[in-house]
Amino acid sequence: MSGEQAAPSAVELHPDRLRLHWPDGMAELDAAMLRAACRCGGCRAGRNVSTDALPRLVGAEPVGLYALQLRFSDGHERGIYPWSLLRELWRDRAGTPLGFC
Ligand SMILES: [Zn+2]
Repeated sequence: MSGEQAAPSAVELHPDRLRLHWPDGMAELDAAMLRAACRCGGCRAGRNVSTDALPRLVGAEPVGLYALQLRFSDGHERGIYPWSLLRELWRDRAGTPLGFC
């Protein structure tokens, strides 16, 4: 499975953010930002825009070894977030590689 992003060693779910512990550092991703980054068919087509101004995270389930499925307070639960996407979102947000907190 070369090229696949390995799973973080721990995932912490908070209502307003998701915290991921990678081997090389910790990343925190905002719930609203994650909701906006959903890549399910409905969201990509613009049909599933959140009705909630500040969506909260209400659940997270692993999908195989490669991704996390997130559930949001607006009822949306179809978003699959591969580890590689979560890494990318963090990099984009921080503008720099992962750092230790
Ligand atoms: Zn979606």
